[in-house]
Amino acid sequence: MSNFRKTALFLSVMNETTKHQGLRRQLIETLRVKGIQSEEVLNVMLEVPRHFFMDPSLINFAYEDNAYPIAAEQTISQPYTVAFQSELLAVTEGHKVLEIGTGSGYQTAVLLGLTPQVYTIERQHALFKQTQRLFAQLGYRTKKQVFGDGYKGLPTDAPFDRILVTAGAPAVPKTLLNQLAVGGKLVIPLGEKEQIMTRYIRTSKTTFDKQEFGVFRFVPMLENKN
Ligand code: SAH
Repeated sequence: MSNFRKTALFLSVMNETTKHQGLRRQLIETLRVKGIQSEEVLNVMLEVPRHFFMDPSLINFAYEDNAYPIAAEQTISQPYTVAFQSELLAVTEGHKVLEIGTGSGYQTAVLLGLTPQVYTIERQHALFKQTQRLFAQLGYRTKKQVFGDGYKGLPTDAPFDRILVTAGAPAVPKTLLNQLAVGGKLVIPLGEKEQIMTRYIRTSKTTFDKQEFGVFRFVPMLENKN
């Protein structure tokens, strides 16, 4: 991180004000109007300071309901999408959750508001390093933050009660279905150009229910070539 970026980040961290709290309250009302109902998710999103997770040049847009560019040509997800995925995931405290695609770390922070057992994987090294620093600065403690390929999941820590993929996958990775606990839920956007939000529920060791929830747009879930 450049010195300029460090300074900008420091200033933004020092800049959590009543203005931001007010903007977050408005954002939460927007999410309600758009159909988000989970009070748990809305309460957590009322607290997580999204402006810390933005590119410093875009901080003024932190509480707009839009996705924005971050480093490594990736995006911070739209708040509505974060709320929608979190609601579908239905996390309760004590759930062990795996997130694929740490990105800006914003969704990770929302998950940490729902359960302390969060594992997250990112394949872009710049984002991995950036969020490592940011989580330390803000006091967010994941169980594990991994630089690696989400297609592999985390076999040593499986099974997971919940798995959340925050990038668009062409097809559901079998590895991730296998790392789900019986009764567990996997939320994943599936498709190439646009994605259908999909939820799998593991109903037994060998069976899964599949549900679909409308169209979204994500950056692609990429496989590492090694
Ligand atoms: N939850 C993030 C979303 C970031 S965009 C946020 O709100 O900021 C999706 C992220 O998934 C990108 O950072 C991208 O690099 C990452 N990604 C794509 N394919 C991946 C893979 N195979 N393993 C891990 N991360 C992946």
